[in-house]
Amino acid sequence: MHVRGGCAAGALGLVLLLCIAADCVAAAPADPLGRRTVDLGSSVDGRAIRAVETGDLDARQRALVVGCIHGNEPAGIAVANLLAHAAPPAELDLWIIPVLNPDGVAAGTRGDARGVDLNRNFPWRWQRLHGVFSSGSKPLSEPESRAAYRLITRVDPLVSIWFHQHEDVVDESGGRLAIERRFARLAGLGLARLPREPGSAVGWENHRDSAATAFVVELPRGALSRQRARRLAHAVVGVTTDPTDDSRR
Ligand SMILES: [Zn+2]
Repeated sequence: MHVRGGCAAGALGLVLLLCIAADCVAAAPADPLGRRTVDLGSSVDGRAIRAVETGDLDARQRALVVGCIHGNEPAGIAVANLLAHAAPPAELDLWIIPVLNPDGVAAGTRGDARGVDLNRNFPWRWQRLHGVFSSGSKPLSEPESRAAYRLITRVDPLVSIWFHQHEDVVDESGGRLAIERRFARLAGLGLARLPREPGSAVGWENHRDSAATAFVVELPRGALSRQRARRLAHAVVGVTTDPTDDSRR
């Protein structure tokens, strides 16, 4: 027999199911400047992985910055934190993951707590690799990669910037070259095409959305000076706020 109570319970169940299917992320309320912290999940060792969403949260223009995916390449965290604490950019919904690999940062290792190189763990052209470039047991085997995957498929950023070290160059990663070139100019870095690695985050992002541009920024060795970090943060806002502005390349 169909009763109203059952229908309401069914509707609630459906909402819960949809929420689980959509992988709802826990978001704190926005602060007075409109920024909010979003819980993306936990690392292998249970450390929190968080994103900060800043700018115009309703803007159609969306971008992502990842400060650190390889734990022994942490210089980009300073840029990410500057962006997270700066005045929110206008007309841009900016997502910042300061640290995607908190276990690696804590241990000073490239990989996560299982020794997996997260930048070989994404689905596009994934290959089984061992050693320092271990790609995991399967694509997205690691909770850290899954956290980034879920956020990216939900947010759909037009521009994504992933910081690494220590080649000191902007990588031509396969998205729009004009954006990479403009970033390099604004950041005071050179531009080069580094090898395209199987299972990389930018490879997957550029494959999944041909309109999007994801690229790697290889920072120099060591920590960034405050001035250098500030210039890089300006470069991020410069190319993500208006990626179509190729006028000054
Ligand atoms: Zn790296």
